[in-house]
Amino acid sequence: MSTTLVNPATGREFLEVPAATEADADAAIARAHDAFPAWRDVAPGERARLLRAFAAIVGQHNEELARLEVENSGHTIGNARWEAGNVRDVLTYYSAAPERLVGKQIPVPGGVDVTFHEPLGVVGVIVPWNFPMPIAGWGFAPALAAGNTVVLKPAEITPLTAIRIGELALEAGLPPGVFTVVPGKGSVVGQRFVTHPDVHKVVFTGSTEVGKQIMAGCAEQVKHVTLELGGKSANIVFADADVAGAATAAPGAVFDNAGQDCCARSRILVQRSVYDEFVGRLETAVRDWRTMDPSDEQSQMGPMVSAGQQASVQRYLDGVTIAFQGGTPDGDGYWLPATVVESTDAREPVWREEVFGPVVAVMAFEDEDEAIALANDSDYGLSGSIFTHDLGRALRVSRGVQTGNLSVNSHSSVRYWTPFGGYKMSGLGRELGPDAPYAFTEEKNVFIAT
Ligand code: NAD
Repeated sequence: MSTTLVNPATGREFLEVPAATEADADAAIARAHDAFPAWRDVAPGERARLLRAFAAIVGQHNEELARLEVENSGHTIGNARWEAGNVRDVLTYYSAAPERLVGKQIPVPGGVDVTFHEPLGVVGVIVPWNFPMPIAGWGFAPALAAGNTVVLKPAEITPLTAIRIGELALEAGLPPGVFTVVPGKGSVVGQRFVTHPDVHKVVFTGSTEVGKQIMAGCAEQVKHVTLELGGKSANIVFADADVAGAATAAPGAVFDNAGQDCCARSRILVQRSVYDEFVGRLETAVRDWRTMDPSDEQSQMGPMVSAGQQASVQRYLDGVTIAFQGGTPDGDGYWLPATVVESTDAREPVWREEVFGPVVAVMAFEDEDEAIALANDSDYGLSGSIFTHDLGRALRVSRGVQTGNLSVNSHSSVRYWTPFGGYKMSGLGRELGPDAPYAFTEEKNVFIAT
């Protein structure tokens, strides 16, 4: 079995990669299972050193990994360099964890009580196509740091960077079987991570629909599971904000990675008194947005990842009134322009559903209460932004919006130093931040009678 890879910017096929069978997945899991006891017992300082070596070698191959991502996924070269750098930085950050995975000494009568954080065993990481490198690293780096071995399945259509990172792990000196990349179908390899009794945790990022199946499957074996699912995040702009700054920043917050971003601020809520000013400034910013060959250093947005994704996004645009759009290059490839829709009805699919493409819906609101109610009128709760100069309002709205990651007067959300994850249908559990390695451990309590 194999998968034919297509360059999304040209529509041309460029490589066949083997797709693992269920027997291949079983063999990779068996190797990870066999490698676990020795990896668990590597001294903390030595495991830290190996992870730093892994980070360094990923850093040395930044340009190679970035070029692979441009060709395979259509990411802009600037973004792809950042993504490879993110893998290096996340590995470096968690390389400090083995030496700091401390337990507690708890006061109890009659003895001494201590806790230990022990690794789970084999962890299965299932990655989607939209951010092949960072999402992989957010799973495998803290899992390895906590002493687990990892099997990782990239998305069918974007496996190249993960395969290369798997090779680099071996070059860095990680023992064979500690980190194995298994490219293949979700219904075969991904499903096997769920059903195999020697996989003790599944880290899944992808659609809410598949996430629910994974959770149900993991329930059969009471298996640990983390879900990072979809989003429909709100960017809320109050009249007291820097309206010009908010309008200039809005395109980047939704059109980055061609909108194929679970954190995309794909709903913009603007207070009515500044609505016309905001939309006017947004139009200027969107018309200046550079959608072009992703390998061009000037490119801000490349194509959709596949013909299927292009068609899926296009369906949301058929029949809606488009306010204004950016441009697209001529020629083949899965291109869509940056598109703005003005919404007046919160029941419209383009307002409610995760389009996962370069489409943003804008709506006016009257006051703070209505802004919070509109933002929360969603099945999702992953990310969001608030623009205001009123500190009290910034805090009230931050506490009122039911979402896992908010930024005030900015759009930053996924920072590896801080926890990341969703409310409601956006997921279960948290990744990243200082506590991530603990999510890959069991906490053991030991009481010693004195
Ligand atoms: P998807 O759910 O179809 O696939 C995600 C991964 O799961 C792929 O590797 C796929 O092969 C695998 N998979 C598919 N069926 C499976 C099964 N039955 N068992 C096990 N694994 C299976 O999603 P997608 O189309 O790759 O990605 C787009 C979606 O992912 C969007 O909805 C987006 O919002 C979401 N997403 C969420 C986050 C987040 O952090 N919350 C990040 C990226 C993407």
